[in-house]
Amino acid sequence: MKINNPTNWETATNYIKRYAKQIEALFPELSNVELDITTMDSLQKDGTNPLSYEERSLTDNKPRIYYDEDVVKTITDEQQLFALISHEIGHMLAHYKQEKREGVEGEIAADNYVIKLGLGKELLNALILLKDNYNNNRDTNFDFLPNMSESYSKTNEQLNSRIEIIKKTIKC
Ligand SMILES: [Zn+2]
Repeated sequence: MKINNPTNWETATNYIKRYAKQIEALFPELSNVELDITTMDSLQKDGTNPLSYEERSLTDNKPRIYYDEDVVKTITDEQQLFALISHEIGHMLAHYKQEKREGVEGEIAADNYVIKLGLGKELLNALILLKDNYNNNRDTNFDFLPNMSESYSKTNEQLNSRIEIIKKTIKC
C-alpha cells in the first residue's frame, strides 16, 4: 500500500515509517491501494471526529483519510493517533474485502484490524478520551437541540459498546 502525506502531518510520517510494512504483510489485499492522508476542510468538520475515511475523494476519486487538525490536538499520545489512523485503514480494508457492515458493526470490524496491528490498548484509551471530550462538549447545549440529543445518545451508546468489546478482546 502506498500512503501519501501531502500535508506533511508529522504523525502520519511517523505512522508510515512504523506501520506501512506491517500493513502490507498483514493485509496483502491492500498492496495495490494508494491512500492519501490529508486535512479536513471546514465543511467536513463536525467538531468531535478526529479522523474519518472516504472511499472516493471528491477532488480526485481516490481513497482518503481526513484528519481534523483541531480535534487531533486533543490526543497527545502519538500511539493513540496511530490506533485511530489504523481504524480508518480498517474501514478501507473492509471496503476492499467487500464486507458491508453498517453502523456500529462496521466500527467494531474496523477496531478489530487495529487490534491485529497490536494497537488495541491504545485504541481503547483513545476512545475513552474521545468519549469524555464529547460528553464535556455536548452537555452544555444539547438540551435545547432535540435532534442533537438523539445523535448524542447514539454516539455515546456506540462508543460504549466499542469500548466494552475492545476490553473483552484484549482482556483488560
Ligand atoms: Zn470508524
